[in-house]
Amino acid sequence: MNIHNIFLKKEQFTKEDLTVLLASEGENQKLLFEKAKAIKQQYIGNVVHFRGLIEYSNTCSKNCYYCGIRSGNKEISRYTATDEEVLNIAKLVMENRYGSMVLQSGECSNKKVTSHITQLIKEIKRISNNSIGVTLSCGEQSESVYRQWFEAGAHRYLLRIESSNTQLYTKLHPQNKRHDYQSRVQCLESLKKIGYQVGTGVMIGLPFQTIENLAEDLLFFKEKDVDMIGMGPYLVHKQTPMAKYQNELLTIEQRFNLSLNMIASLRILMKDVNIAASTAMQTLNPFGREKAIEVGANIVMPNLTPLKYRENYKLYEDKPSVNEDAEETKNQLEKRILSINHTIGYDQWGDSAHYAESKNNWK
Ligand code: SF4
Repeated sequence: MNIHNIFLKKEQFTKEDLTVLLASEGENQKLLFEKAKAIKQQYIGNVVHFRGLIEYSNTCSKNCYYCGIRSGNKEISRYTATDEEVLNIAKLVMENRYGSMVLQSGECSNKKVTSHITQLIKEIKRISNNSIGVTLSCGEQSESVYRQWFEAGAHRYLLRIESSNTQLYTKLHPQNKRHDYQSRVQCLESLKKIGYQVGTGVMIGLPFQTIENLAEDLLFFKEKDVDMIGMGPYLVHKQTPMAKYQNELLTIEQRFNLSLNMIASLRILMKDVNIAASTAMQTLNPFGREKAIEVGANIVMPNLTPLKYRENYKLYEDKPSVNEDAEETKNQLEKRILSINHTIGYDQWGDSAHYAESKNNWK
């Protein structure tokens, strides 16, 4: 089908329509990007919001086949940042006027750990006088833990589905109850029910993944009515079982282009959601994040994790900014974002417009 006819359908895209958009090349890709850019301008504006990221702990009870910090990887040192380090990051977020922070970690449902995270959230809220918005990304937890964290002050949660195709999901994870697809979907539903702004996302260019799978992923985001999406190209970590397929992957350029097409198609499909420009984009292309912003993304997560921990929080190889300190990151990012004619939403939480809109619809 002609790409113009697909655009006329507005948001009522079929899987086939999305497959056409995702496969765009040359002139069609240019049209796709222009359309996404215009929609972003209309619904979001040319503003980027930051979330200062702390990779709080690389301890994880799961063993996902693609992930560098999986429990089966014995070649990394495990760490958990101290309270002082976390609170120093919160202070840095305030000094840098980022408005929000993300506390990310491997998955651990031990009560001592989850209660400790509750205390940290309360402390971040207290020392910032509630000026910092807190996003969590700490994996699958019980509904009561999610609720505890929400009541402590966290209001956004990221839990990537990684692939919404159950067969592909099965290939990416060990076959046991801990890695069950339905449990993950259930977690997304619990988060929504509690009142979080819910984020999810997928990897792009995985072994065995088809373009139709990615079209299904976009429809999954829409069906689940999520508020935020973080997705990026699949990158290999050599200490993982998936590394054996590295010769079967799309080329770097193909994965990068497909990721841009995913972002642009998503912006057209879900006009007012928050979309992250992932660091994985920057790994494949030095200007990957800027390109992602130009075709629809509006969120950047500068990594503020203490340098001594970064080497041990590599979900994939060649992760950028492993040696870059917070000040360098800030200066570089500012320059780069201004260079693409975007402004930075300093001192703002940068909440998902989609969330506000859906809340209004419930009233
Ligand atoms: S992807 Fe997440 S849950 Fe899976 S091993 Fe990595 S950190 Fe743990």
